[in-house]
Amino acid sequence: MTAALVVGAAGGAWAWDSHQGDVATRQANAADRAVAVAEAQASDVDVTVGHDAALDRARVAVVLVEARGGLQETADTARSALAATEGKIADDTVRQTLAAQLVVADAALAAVPATSPDTAVATSSGPTAAPSSDPSDPSDPSDPAAGYSAADLRAITATLSTGTAAVMAAHDAWTAQQAAVAAPAAKRPTPRPAAVAPRPAPTRAPSCETTYTGPPFYTSPPTVGGDGSNGKLPPSALTAISWAKDPHGTPYYLRTNAAAALERLDSAFRAAFGHHLGLDLTYRDYDTQVEMRAALGTVAARPGTSTHGTGLALDVPELPCQYGWDTPQRDWLVTHGPSYGWTSPAWAHRDGSNPEYWHFDYVG
Ligand SMILES: [Zn+2]
Repeated sequence: MTAALVVGAAGGAWAWDSHQGDVATRQANAADRAVAVAEAQASDVDVTVGHDAALDRARVAVVLVEARGGLQETADTARSALAATEGKIADDTVRQTLAAQLVVADAALAAVPATSPDTAVATSSGPTAAPSSDPSDPSDPSDPAAGYSAADLRAITATLSTGTAAVMAAHDAWTAQQAAVAAPAAKRPTPRPAAVAPRPAPTRAPSCETTYTGPPFYTSPPTVGGDGSNGKLPPSALTAISWAKDPHGTPYYLRTNAAAALERLDSAFRAAFGHHLGLDLTYRDYDTQVEMRAALGTVAARPGTSTHGTGLALDVPELPCQYGWDTPQRDWLVTHGPSYGWTSPAWAHRDGSNPEYWHFDYVG
């Protein structure tokens, strides 16, 4: 379908919609539109204001859908890259980074409809499918319901592309290294034809899809002017972890003693696994705790009580294949973490009150 067709259809839908006063008032932007129409009528001007706004809104919707399409393609490519490079890469950190970026992308894809609400209007009847964002501001092509603008989606797409390129470059390097190692061996005479070794039965690896299904949340920077209470820790109370930042570029902050202990833990973890410990969230400020509680319900701690708000908790990525129950990484963390002061609290255990394989607390 061409953009022009969508725009035209949407314009018609709006014209129809503008006569359905009671129904249209349910839309978030109805009041603005009604004012525009009333003003136009009062000044005896042809009611083209609403129509122009509808055109703008339709263009916005088309741009958003196009941006979503680009993100979907890039996310598919990234997922394929992750699947193709598992165990075939020297440093898994780039894969973990990409997996974290995919979490962000998937949340955005889930939040933004795959088709424009205007397109839906064109093929259905009734105003309930009418667009919900403000048509008076086409410079901000965002859908308040979804919370993402086209620019947001393009930014996520760009990050994902960079992450995918990094993974594929690392994989290429690994492949070249494997070939170099294999080449001299291939030249050696083989005393007898090598028996075809039975391939080991494929073990059913845990999924690399994230188990997190909520909206994206990010780790918090220190709270400037914070009074030191839960979620209000000032910069002087926190230290950034040295090896990673979140997808927004925010360093992972922890209370200084917890950060120092985690640096030591990470050295040991890296010696065991060849890559840094993955992080998803560490310090969480009060405002973010409020947002998470609103979005996730009782799965999130009551605002002001989260150990993330004290700078003494971390979440590793919610990736079952990396850190899920019974993975070597989680087993290592549970076994060795306590000697660095980091433990999996009882409530987060598999049989605990709120099982979270990804959550660890610093208890000193
Ligand atoms: Zn947590």
